[in-house]
Formats: sequence, structure tokens, C-alpha cells
Amino acid sequence: NVRVRFAPSPTGPLHIGGVRTALFNYLFAKKHGGTFVLRIEDTDLTRYVSNAEQYIKDALEWCKIPYEEGPGKNEKFGPYRQSERKDIYKKYAQTLIDTGKAYYAFDTAEQLDAHRKDHESNGKTFIYNWHNREKGRLVNSLVLSKEETQSKIEAGENYVIRFKSPQDETLILQDEIRGSIRIDTNTLDDKVLFKSDGMPTYHLANIVDDHLMEISHVIRGEEWLPSMPLHVLLYNAFGWNAPKFAHLPLILKPVGKGKLSKRDGDQLGFPVFPLAYTNETTGEVSRGYKEDGYFEDAFINMLALLGWNPGTEQELFSLEELSNTFDLNRVSKSGAKFSPEKARWFNQQYLQTKTNIELAEHFNPLLSEKGVQTELAYVEKVVSLIKERAVFVSDFWDLSSFFFEAPKSYDEKASKKNWKEGTSELMLELISVLENCSSFTSIDTENKVKEWIGIKEIGFGKVMQPLRLSLVGALKGPHLFDIIEMIGKEETINRIQKSIK
Ligand code: GLU
Repeated sequence: NVRVRFAPSPTGPLHIGGVRTALFNYLFAKKHGGTFVLRIEDTDLTRYVSNAEQYIKDALEWCKIPYEEGPGKNEKFGPYRQSERKDIYKKYAQTLIDTGKAYYAFDTAEQLDAHRKDHESNGKTFIYNWHNREKGRLVNSLVLSKEETQSKIEAGENYVIRFKSPQDETLILQDEIRGSIRIDTNTLDDKVLFKSDGMPTYHLANIVDDHLMEISHVIRGEEWLPSMPLHVLLYNAFGWNAPKFAHLPLILKPVGKGKLSKRDGDQLGFPVFPLAYTNETTGEVSRGYKEDGYFEDAFINMLALLGWNPGTEQELFSLEELSNTFDLNRVSKSGAKFSPEKARWFNQQYLQTKTNIELAEHFNPLLSEKGVQTELAYVEKVVSLIKERAVFVSDFWDLSSFFFEAPKSYDEKASKKNWKEGTSELMLELISVLENCSSFTSIDTENKVKEWIGIKEIGFGKVMQPLRLSLVGALKGPHLFDIIEMIGKEETINRIQKSIK
């Protein structure tokens, strides 16, 4: 019974790495007929951001990766917000104390600092654990008697509950993506599980919840790989079966080295967030894929291929195809370079596959902004003529304004080059040719104009370039006779007349 979870901490907007983690969990659940759970890991009050949970939900909704259980939804194993489960963690921390798998530690910040310095001056990495304690390097709170411990707690001394890492053991971990990993337990810290403010740390809350929520596979980013030994040891300490683990490769910067950071987007001019985000305290706004004009299916398709490949040349996948094809075996160990150009390419590909009606509907609000009022059927036709040159719907206006309004100016360079002596006279003659066209379809006007050019024995460009300038204002746009058919006889002739100087 496959149950997976996406467990973000609401510390700010999800970045694309987080969305990819959610996506891979979702795909894995779909592939195996399992359940995808959303859990909000909000135990770190110092980093809590109040609009972040809503942002996470909105982002998943836009991406069309719905969770089946989560805060406010099918709360079978709820609550799904860790801040609402405090009592549960307390109980489990106590269990570990009672069974001797964890201990109270009363070290002050100064004491810890002194020990760290002591270690580092001996050229060693500071590790707080049993192994070091035995050698007398650390304050021996560990050997405090039960009574001593109790009286310190009652006196209101600050404490933490730490996990007692086993000494001199070799741990063999199994990761679904990375294979087996050997760990010497003497290299592990005795991590804090619970604090005197009544809050668990991430580690305790995370594994208690994964156990209680019957999570079968933990699929998460590589940055959590160093926590895996502790998590496995915690499962052992409780006597629980650990879920399977899969750590996804990092998403790397498009240029240079290292992990893609939230800052890279601003610097390099591409979004790193699914939705635009306003920082509550600074008011700073970050761009989002949605607001930048990406289609959610293109965005998801792009993300799916960051660290996973189908083993074939195929690059375009619907969400459904992805859920059928996705496999942890084909997730790579090495980091995946993020490419903003590839993201644009995906959007361009998806734009071509959208129906013209759909695109026209997307385009309509932009047209209204420009003060254009036209029938949807007309917009649909326009879209069909220009979409192959577009990456985003927001490119449509530049590619098609001349279908809706006469050019306001003419490209100077092009006019100089193409509007020569005799051009105005030619254009006047062309007007009468067009006036005599009984049918104004693209093909009929093209035939008539070409016939006339043939009789006059002049170069094709001599007519077509100035004509394009008259109708479009620049030497761009789709097939000229398609434009003529679309704008119609009267408008075509008006525009030519207007351009004759
Ligand atoms: N709360 C952790 C995060 O923010 C979850 C890590 C995990 O999936 O275990 O990513």
C-alpha cells in the first residue's frame, strides 16, 4: 500500500525544487495506485511565515498535483499540521527517555561553544555525541542520575532531549536512488529531538508522523540525505519498520556550480517560484511561472525531466503519461542543471498544441486592455496564423496587432529601403487591382496580384515589401494575403492609401 507525502515547512514560497519533490511524490503515488499526502511541518516557530501554507496549496493547485489527504482534506490520519500535534511528539520523546534511547542534556550555549572550540583547536570536527562524552570531552549531563535530572527540570533549567547515537556501529542504509550507504555511527551527532519549549525538532516530528501516517516511501530532496542515518536509527529505537527512502538529486544553477538558489532567479532573470510571491515583511515581489505566462502543464513537464528521464528520446509528456511512465529507477544520482531556455522551449511546444479557441480565450483579456473589441472567432483565426512564432500568449499582441488596428508608424529603415521612386504609383495601381477583386480570399487576391505583377514584369519584392509596410508597418508578420483576407477589402485599401506619401 503506497503512501507518500510532501512535507514542506511553511518558511516562505515553495521554489521549483520543492514543486519537483511534490511532483515526484504525486507521480509515484499515481503510478502505484497509492495516496499522496500533504503535511505541513511548522514546528520551527522562528522561521514560520503565515502566508506560506496558503501559497503551497495554491501552487499545488495551479500545477494540478492534488493531494488526497492534508490540512482540511480527508483528515484520516490528521491533524496534518505539526503544530497541532505537539502532544503526540511529547509522548514519543518520553518513550525514548524511558527506554534509554534518548537523554536530557542541560548544556548552555556557552558550554557548547567552549566544547566546539576545544574540538576545533585539536583539529577535529565538533560532534556532540555519546562517543565523545565517554571520552570526557563534554559536560557529563549524560551520567546524571534520574533524580538529578528531575530536580534540574523542576528548577526550570533549560534542557533538550537528545538522541543517543549508538557507539561503534556500522549502519548500512538503503536508498532507492543511491543504493547502499555505509555510516559509522561514531560520526553522528546526538541530535536534539525535543526542546524545553515543548516543541519537537524536525527529526522527531518527521519520523513520528511518517510512522503514524503509514508512509511507505519517503521521497525528498538530497539535502535531507545527511538526516537519513538518524531517521533510520530513530525507527529502530522505536521498534518500527522504516519506510523506503529515495533522495532526489539537486537542481543546479544554469551557469556555474552549485545548487539553484532562490536568489539566482532575480539575478539571471527567470522565475524560481511557481507563483509570484509577495514577501510579507519586506513587500518584495518575486516572479512566478504562472504570472510570467507559463502553462502549468509545460511547467510540470519541464520539472519532471529535471533529474528523471524516461530512457527514450521523448520529451513531451502529459501529467497522465508521466504518472504511467515515472519510475524511481530512472531518477539520476547526479544533480540536474536547470535551464531557463528549456523552460521557454517547453512552453512554446505546449502553446502549439493548445486549441485556437483556448488560446483566443487567453488572449482576450490582453485585447481588452488594448481597447480592441472583436469576435472570438476572429481572434481564433488570428491566433492560428501567428501562434507558431510565439512562446507565450503575451507575445501575441506584438505578433498580431496589425490584425486589429492600422499601423501607427512605419519602420523607418525598411521604408527607406523599400519605398522608392515609383512605389506610390505602383501602390495606386495595386489599389485598383484589389478593388476589382470580386473574391477577397487569401488565394484569390494572391492570384490576382501575382497576375498583375507578371504582366508588369517587375520584381515581386517591389510590390510585396511596400505592401507589407502599408498593412503591417514593418517587414514582419504571416503570409501577406492571409492578412488581407482577415482585415478585408476596405481596411486593406484604406491602409495602402494612408501609406502613400
Ligand atoms: N520539512 C522538511 C522540508 O521542509 C521535510 C523534509 C522531508 O521530506 O523529510 O523539506
